[in-house]
Amino acid sequence: MGIMEQDVALRPKTLDEYVGQERLKEKLKVYLQAAKGRREALDHTLLFGPPGLGKTTLSHIIAYEMGVNIKVTSGPAIEKPGDLAAILTNSLEEGDVLFIDEIHRLGRVAEEHLYPAMEDFKLDIVLGQGPAARTIELPLPRFTLIGATTRPGLITAPMRSRFGIIEHLEYYTPQELALGLMRDARLSGYGIAEEAALEIGARSRGTMRIAKRWLRRVRDYAEVAGEKEVSLERAHDALDKLGIDSAGLDERDIKMLEAMIHRFSGGPVGVDTLATALSEDANTIEDVYEPYLIQLGFVKRTPRGRVATAHAYVHLGLPVPFDEYD
Ligand code: ADP
Repeated sequence: MGIMEQDVALRPKTLDEYVGQERLKEKLKVYLQAAKGRREALDHTLLFGPPGLGKTTLSHIIAYEMGVNIKVTSGPAIEKPGDLAAILTNSLEEGDVLFIDEIHRLGRVAEEHLYPAMEDFKLDIVLGQGPAARTIELPLPRFTLIGATTRPGLITAPMRSRFGIIEHLEYYTPQELALGLMRDARLSGYGIAEEAALEIGARSRGTMRIAKRWLRRVRDYAEVAGEKEVSLERAHDALDKLGIDSAGLDERDIKMLEAMIHRFSGGPVGVDTLATALSEDANTIEDVYEPYLIQLGFVKRTPRGRVATAHAYVHLGLPVPFDEYD
């Protein structure tokens, strides 16, 4: 089995198998039950949160729990209004879920065509060009749009207002991640000590995808060492070898903190400047690195840019050059 297939095989199918996100699950259970009771499609739903927290998985679960099919696409894949028409008119049935990942990257024209589709379940299609052009209205089945985004700030107000359910996913605790990891190990037929799962969880930046990736690597080390069960020492040792530190930071996070501290005197520094200094993409910094560093309290956002906090200096073993309580 390839990584993708393995991933799909282990993906939780029901809300009860989905670990954590308790607050969100509780609400969704009510919304799902109510929609099913009324035999209606679930309201359009916007899910936001950093990558790897389980937005795609949750969307599949919602379709499964509603007993409908799911069609998957993404903002960048919908370039022309024609792309949208093709998806919406092609095999989308009453009640189905249309999942649009990275919905903030939808083009403006496609977005405007989506509004009547979401609101009135119709699509305006323009036939011909120039003065001879005419618009026909195509009725659509009542479907549920689930949009996922890492950047809620980039969703336009008219778009946002068309979602009935807007929810964010939270970082997982090490305990929740450990539950997910022990489930994967059980389903894959190998053992893992609870402390080992917790250790991996604690070093996975609160992110299920990362925890599962580290588990696969740690398992490699355990197997090659001829061990039947993943032990705490093995997890510890393998994560060290992978360059993951005690806070779950990898080499790139550390490089970012070091650049902030050594090259920009701890900040404030703008994201674009930092991106150039690191030869990284500014979006990656904003979507992937920064949210977790902020969550850990290592980086703060200020109106003038990003600042490394005292915690960051302490974590890197550096003297704090300013009064902590400033
Ligand atoms: P996102 O869409 O937010 O980037 P995904 O839904 O692709 O994240 O999830 C990343 C990986 O983590 C997948 O392998 C998924 O099966 C797993 N996963 C995510 N959330 C959970 C969860 N709550 N319980 C168990 N596995 C999860």
